[in-house]
Parts: sequence; C-alpha cells; structure tokens
Amino acid sequence: MKATEILKTYFGYDSFREGQDVIIESILSGEDALAIMPTGAGKSICYQVPALMLPGITLVISPLISLMQDQVKSLNEAGVHAAFINSALTETQIAKAMRFAMEGRYKIIYVAPERLESAGFMQFARTGQISMVTVDEAHCISQWGQDFRPSYLKIVEFIDWLPVRPIVSAFTATATKEVKSDIECILKLRNPRVVVTGFDRENLYYSVEHVSGRHKDDFVIQYLKNHADESGIIYCATRKNVDMLYEKLSGCGVSLTRYHAGIDNETRKKSQDDFIYDRVQVVIATNAFGMGIDKSNVRYVIHYNMPQSMENYYQEAGRAGRDGGTAQCILLYAVQDVMIDKYLLENKEFEGMAAEDIDLVRQRDSHRLHVMEGYCKTTTCLRNYILEYFGEKVSVPCENCGNCHQEYYEQDMTMEAKWVINCLAETKGRYGMNIVTGTLTGAKRARIREVGADTYKSYGVLEHWSEKDIRLLIDHMVTEGYVIQTGGEYSVLQMGDIHTLKDENTHVIVRKAKDRKETTGKQKSKSTDMLTSAGYRLFERLRQLRLSIAKEEAMPPYIIFSDKTLIDMCVRIPGDQREMLMVSGVGANKYSKYGERFLAEITSFMVENPRAVLSTPTEKI
Ligand code: ADP
Ligand code: ZN
Repeated sequence: MKATEILKTYFGYDSFREGQDVIIESILSGEDALAIMPTGAGKSICYQVPALMLPGITLVISPLISLMQDQVKSLNEAGVHAAFINSALTETQIAKAMRFAMEGRYKIIYVAPERLESAGFMQFARTGQISMVTVDEAHCISQWGQDFRPSYLKIVEFIDWLPVRPIVSAFTATATKEVKSDIECILKLRNPRVVVTGFDRENLYYSVEHVSGRHKDDFVIQYLKNHADESGIIYCATRKNVDMLYEKLSGCGVSLTRYHAGIDNETRKKSQDDFIYDRVQVVIATNAFGMGIDKSNVRYVIHYNMPQSMENYYQEAGRAGRDGGTAQCILLYAVQDVMIDKYLLENKEFEGMAAEDIDLVRQRDSHRLHVMEGYCKTTTCLRNYILEYFGEKVSVPCENCGNCHQEYYEQDMTMEAKWVINCLAETKGRYGMNIVTGTLTGAKRARIREVGADTYKSYGVLEHWSEKDIRLLIDHMVTEGYVIQTGGEYSVLQMGDIHTLKDENTHVIVRKAKDRKETTGKQKSKSTDMLTSAGYRLFERLRQLRLSIAKEEAMPPYIIFSDKTLIDMCVRIPGDQREMLMVSGVGANKYSKYGERFLAEITSFMVENPRAVLSTPTEKI
C-alpha cells in the first residue's frame, strides 16, 4: 500500500498535512529525520505511517506512560498491532509482550527510555529486526529545556549497539536553536531531513482579560455558563487557588472536577479519567495536569493566573483544539499574579546544584517571567507576540486574537510622565507600584501615610486619574526605559534613563483599550457553527452514542471518533458504508467496529426528522 492509502485505510484521513509527507518520504528513503512541529500538528502520523511500510519493527521511545497507553489504544482501534512496554505493566505482562514482540506480532512498540537498558529488552532488540527508532518528545535529551531526562542520553548507546543501524527519527514541539542542535548532536542523527513547520495554531483564539480579584470568578462563571456544553481546562497557579475556585464554581450548573499534586493518587486518577471520558466538562487544575493528556475536544483553556513562562503558556494553552476545531485560550491577568509568580520562583528549591548554575537558572526564570508579563501587557497582536518569541518571522497582525479585535485610542501623557519621575525622585526609588500610584493619585491609605508619602509635592497631583491609568502609564514608561522596575520579592520603581524625556519634542503616548467591541462576528466560526439546530441535535445524539460505546469499551470517547469526525458525519449524513468511509477520521477498521451503529443512529434520526436541514451547505470543516 502507498502512504496515502495507509493514511486513508487506517486513520481515515484523505491527505497529509503540511510537513507530514516530507518526513514520511525521507524516512521511507532511508534517511534520518527531525521534525519540529507544534502540538496538534500531527507528529504521530509521521512515524506511524512509515512504521507500517518498513519491513521490521519501529521502536518509539516516549517519556510518558499515559501518552504511550493512549497512542497504543488509538493504534489498536485503527487496526494497527502495537504495544507498550513500561513500568505500568507487571513482570508477567512484560514477559508476554516481549514474547509477542519476538514473534513479530507488533509493528510498533512504545518503550520508556529506561527500558532500553534492561537485559531482556536488549536481547530482543538485537535479534528482532528493528527498522526504525523514533524518539518522541526529543527535547527531553537537551539540558536546555525544562523537561530534561537523563535516561534519554542512553538512547544513542542503544542505537550504536544494535547490529544494524536503524533509521532514526526524532520529534518535538520545542523549537529553540539550542534544543534543535542538541537533538541533532546528542542523538547523532546522520544527515537528517529537518522539517520545521510553523508554530502558529490557527484554530486557537488568544486573548488576555485584565480582571482582578473576585471579578475573575465572575468572569469564569459567566464563561462556563455560556459554554456549558463544551469541554475546558482552567489552570490556576497554586493548589489553594484550585480548591477555592472549585468551591466557588460548584453549583454553577457545569460539571467539574479538580486536579493537583496535593490530591491523593487515586482521586487524581479519577479526576483525570472523568475529564478524559467526558463524564465532566471542566477540570480546574495546577500545571501538574495535562502531561500527556491527548483529549482532542478541549474547546477552551482559561488561565486563572499568569503562568511563569511563554513556554508553559504555549504548551498549556495548546491543549485546546487538538482536533483542529476552533478553541479559545484566555488568560486572566491581574498585577497580583506577577507577584505570586515572582514569589514562587524565588522560593524554588535547587537541590544539589552549584551556586553559579542556580544564578543562571534564576536569571533565565526571571527573563521568562518578564516575557510572559509582556504578553499580558502588550496591546499588539498576541499571536505575533508568541510566534516572535519562538523565533518566527511575522508580518501583519492576525485579525484573530483579542488584541486584534480590541480597539485602542492613544493618549498623550507626557505631563503625567514627568510627575511620575518627580515622584520617583521624592520616594528615592524605595517603593513599589502601589505606593507610587497611590501617592500620585492622592490615595488615602494608611500605608501611604505611614511612609510619609502624603507630604510629598507629588502627592495627589494626578488625583483626577485612576490608579489603573497611572499604572498603565508606568508600565509603558518601564517598556520605554524611563523607569526601572526591579525584580525580586520587593519590586521597587526607580528612575531609568530620562535623558530623552527632557527633550520637549518627546511625547509619552499611552495606548488604551476602548470598551471591547463585539468580537463574535469576526472570530473564526466554530466547527459546530455550520450545524443548524437540527444538525446540532444529531451531533448530540452521536456524542451520546459515542459515550455509551466508550463506556462499553472502557476507552476515552475521543479515541473512538473525534468531535470533528462526528460533525463531519452530521454534515455529510452518510447513508451507507461507502459514504461513511468518506467521513474524515473513519478508517476501515473503525468502520467495521462502529460504523454500522453510527449509520443506524443517523438513519433513525433522519427517519424521525425527514425534512431536516442539518448544515449550511457553503462551509466545510
Ligand atoms: P501531535 O503529536 O503533533 O501533538 P497528534 O499526532 O496527536 O499531534 O495529532 C493531532 C490530531 O490531528 C489527531 O487527532 C490526529 O488524528 C489528527 N491528524 C493528524 N494528521 C492528520 C491528517 N493528515 N488529516 C487529518 N487529521 C490529522
Ligand atoms: Zn492578532
């Protein structure tokens, strides 16, 4: 079979996505390959399709047990013989899997890197025919990244030790130069074909909402109510926040669960399963949640607090919309969050690390936090901000993010800026944002009287401004370098380079958000938007059917069919096997397992609603 036939028969897709075909061709011609593609781009297909075409076995080295299990389930569903060997299995199960592997029953075997050193496995690897070694999450080999795994360093020894060198392919979503060259060098890739696809996740709509305190709760409650039938993740910075928000949201009419490292293993496992198996709609979690979560129909990710780095944000927000359907990534920003993050970073523990290394890590952390803060404060295109950070060239604003949809106006605040400088001179750079804005606006706070700021000349000179306005001005002045905001637990404001400010031609122009215009019209339409209300009813019925099959098979619903596949069914309304096989995501094996039940459900719906129009004809997914 040709590659495209395999794609259709096993996975039910008509064509390859950007980059997939190049990687597959080069693997099939015997070349090593390195693919750097964002989450959701479809890396697995890049090695799974050639694995089915190469003569021997493909070993996939993967760091996460849950990910392996998911992948193997999906492959088995698609009719591919695959297995995993890791510490989740008992010795007896491992022995059995190894025996089957020896007999050549599997085309694809997932292993944890530690396994490569076990005697039994090594023996199998030397005698079995291994055509390809695939290194998934290959950035784990680099000490530059946050996910460094020492056991990944052993991979190359393992490969060297094999009687015939297999093709080596490596995959990651981490794009920095250092990580890329580490992967090439440490894995000793030979003249690899390197494919880097864009980091843009077009289906994700990014936005930042400036809300603080209890307004965040109101925002979240309203959002959940408006998206009651969708699956979402809410990330909080701390366990305490998770628990508090969980209490608050209980009873708002949407089914929830929570997840953090302080919850016992069993309950945590249950929470995760409830979410994956669509038994609850929303999970509130710390960033402990999500490693290896492959659930494809997450429609939104809300960050209740600002994460500590763009890398984290991109990864966590990226758990939305893996099926390619539109999804929202919303970050709720409040100044206090930056304080929390600074505190968390300062109290980070570094066991057994040399002092200079700790310094380096601290500097790096604080730079990352700074970049993240920039994302929350920028008034320009959010998507471009992310892409630029990951080293991509960008041109025009995306017209599909919160900032592109936000209208701004510009305000000349040169006079006010000069007062800020006067105030910093008076406070001698000893105080932080709160005292400075409070002083300038003449706030009557005890703390301000305590430090004697109410006697300054600058006290109350900007009293007709809100503290929020002045904070915006100062943020802008920090970006321009007129003001320095120190790091550390007690961040203070100091005078920066005010040379140009003295020039009377210099103006300090602050961009301010107008009230948010109605954005829904301009946002990309949701995949379900093309369904009419009748179409939506059928979609709901197919979801129910999927849920009951998922229960029978003890399988996450999205492994049976993705939402996108169900929507495509509602659009195409297949009437027989041939038509069903044309639906995106329905391969031969899945058809034989579930096709008829879905056909029957569709038919009975159409019999009950003979004249129903299910979708608007002009659009496609
Ligand atoms: P990654 O590992 O890059 O995060 P996955 O391999 O999990 O991404 O793929 C993401 C989703 O895209 C999966 O649901 C997968 O089935 C789907 N997909 C992959 N390749 C294609 C394709 N060529 N056409 C349609 N869907 C695809
Ligand atoms: Zn934009």
